[in-house]
Order: sequence, then C-alpha cells, then structure tokens
Amino acid sequence: MKVSRRTVLKMSGVGFAAITMLPRVAFAGRNSVLSMRTGVQPNGKTRLVIETSLRPSYDISYPQNQMVVSLANTGACSVSPKLSGDGLVKKLTGVSVGDKLNVVADLRKSVAPIDKSSVMILPPNGDNEYRLVLDFVAGTNATDTNSKNDKSEKISSKQYVIVIDAGHGGKDPGCIGKGGTREKTVVLSVAKKLKKELDSAGFKTYLTRSGDNFLKLAERAEIAEKRHADLFLSLHANANPSRQTRGYSVYTLSEKASDEEAQKLAETENAVDKIGVSGFEKFSKEIRVALSALQQRAVAELSEEYATNCARAMDNASIDRLPGPSIRHAPFAVLRSTVPGALIELGHLSNATEEKLLKSDSHQNKLVRAIVKSVKNYNFDV
Ligand SMILES: [Zn+2]
Repeated sequence: MKVSRRTVLKMSGVGFAAITMLPRVAFAGRNSVLSMRTGVQPNGKTRLVIETSLRPSYDISYPQNQMVVSLANTGACSVSPKLSGDGLVKKLTGVSVGDKLNVVADLRKSVAPIDKSSVMILPPNGDNEYRLVLDFVAGTNATDTNSKNDKSEKISSKQYVIVIDAGHGGKDPGCIGKGGTREKTVVLSVAKKLKKELDSAGFKTYLTRSGDNFLKLAERAEIAEKRHADLFLSLHANANPSRQTRGYSVYTLSEKASDEEAQKLAETENAVDKIGVSGFEKFSKEIRVALSALQQRAVAELSEEYATNCARAMDNASIDRLPGPSIRHAPFAVLRSTVPGALIELGHLSNATEEKLLKSDSHQNKLVRAIVKSVKNYNFDV
C-alpha cells in the first residue's frame, strides 16, 4: 500500500523528525554544512538532507558499500549528523579533500544510483538555509523516476486530494485591472478549469468556493484540513503600482518574508481579514493545535518542493515570470495549515497586456496546463 506524504505528516511528522537547530556559521564565499540528517519513509526510501549556507554544487559517487556526496568549495564539517535508526545509512562523515567536502555515507546495503532529476535543492525559507535532499532505495538498478508516464500512472492509482482556493470573492474583489477585470473573477474561472483538468487526471479536488462568495482566510485553510488534502493551491492575481511590472510568482509560507515585495504582498492578501502578519493568534483552535513546530517545518519542506515544480512548469510553458527569485516566501494567512501548498500569483492585472491575457480562455488554459503538470510531477509518495 502506498502511504501519502500527507498521511505521514498526519501520523507524526516522521521522516522529518531529526531536524535540529545548529549554529549557523558561514564563511564568506565558501560553503559550509550546517546540518546533516537522514530519515526513513514507510516505503523503504531513505532521505538524506544536507543543509548548507550557500547553494550547494554536488556530485554523487558510489564506491563499495558507500555513497559519497562531494560538495564543491565547502569547508570542513563539524556538525554531528542525526541518523535515523533503521535507514540505509549507518554512518555519515564529512571528509575534507582539497577544497571539497565529501559527505561519506556508510551503507547497510548498496543503493540504486540516484536519478539527478529527482534530487532537490531547496532554497532558504526563513528557518532553514539551502537543503540538498537525496532520496534513495536499496538495490543496484536505477529506478525509472525520470519516466513521466510512469509517474502519472502511479499518481492516478491512488486518489490524492487537492483543495483549490480561488482567492477573494463576494465583497472582496481582490485587485482590479485598469480595464475593470476583477481578481476574484479571473481566479475563480482558472480554479474551475483547474478542478476539471485535475479531476480528469485522477485527482480528487475540492474548491474552497465555487461561486462569488466571501470566505475568511482561516476558513479556506480549514477546508483543506477537513478534506485531508495532500496539496493546497491558492490562486491569485497581482497588482503593482508600476504598470510595467508583469509575470507570475509562486509563494510559500514563512514567518519571515523573503523580500520586501513578498512582505507587502502578504500584507495585501492578508488585509481582507485584518489578520496580523505575525503570530498565529487569530487561528482557529483546531489548526493552532495541529501546527507543531516540527510539522510546520515538514509542511514547509513539502511546500517548497511543490513550489519548485510549479515555477519550473510555468517557465517551461513560457509564461512570463516576475523578475527575481523563482520562489518567494511570506507570512500568508491562507497557507497556515498542516497541508503543504503554495499561493500562485498568476500574473499582474495592473499590466494591460497581462490583464487581457488573464481574461482570455486560451491563456487561462495555458496556466491550467502548467499547474496540472506541476501537480503530476509533485512526488506525493514519500
Ligand atoms: Zn489576491
């Protein structure tokens, strides 16, 4: 039986349990390892996470009974690794070789070579720095994780639940374009199209609203909780005082905004409920209780995986991206739950060209196709 990541999160936050805070010492221009940990997933996968101060550049080799992750331009390692008791890794050591640091994993069994396309480098998210995430299984043959067809089939064999949230609604129109296009209308239209496509791809989807009605942000998050969603997607469209500004952007939850723009956006999106951007005090008791620090971090990690997929799919579909980082972080109230997810600003209604695009069926379909792809490529199984 397959166990979804959501089930794993709900069970106890296992697999991510070995996260510890370590002193953040970074040397200018040189990468350093801040933490190393392994976790075990129910289907026999071992996950190795190496947290680094800078974006890691790596190579993997597989000498006898070992796996060696070689990190370029990285200083000596003084952190003590946190190892899961029954994973494939029995010992982790940092060995300096010239200007490289080799993270040497002594293995209980030989492992199948890791497909590079499945390796993730997660950007800093406020609580963590860069994380190199490697998943592997015992064996000698590479698993065909790069076959997209296989992946889609795998996904359709179990029904994953996705809650699609069309932002704003009712008395809250969201932002309004110069031509009068309302954010609440555009995002509802995209949400409905997305629901249809994801349903026919084998997912079980729910909309937070299917009409022009007002919902509080916490209510939206609660719908995701109640439906036991595996993924939560909140759809929005943006506005900027500069009419030139255009492009989509993807956001995940973090108590600390990644940049000033992201912070301002979170304040705008949160303003509808007059929810403060710091703290969880306005949250329903149910959700507040559910959000342990550990879960928050696990949810953040999964959300970033999804957001990375989403930005990649949008880029691949040649949808304009707002200049700057591909994923941003900010304290969005609607994302505060135990469900991994992202807030997608589909484009700028304040830009005349994008306003026209966002209204058009063909562009909405293009956005939907990209999002469907990103969902299919998201690894629901741990
Ligand atoms: Zn919005």
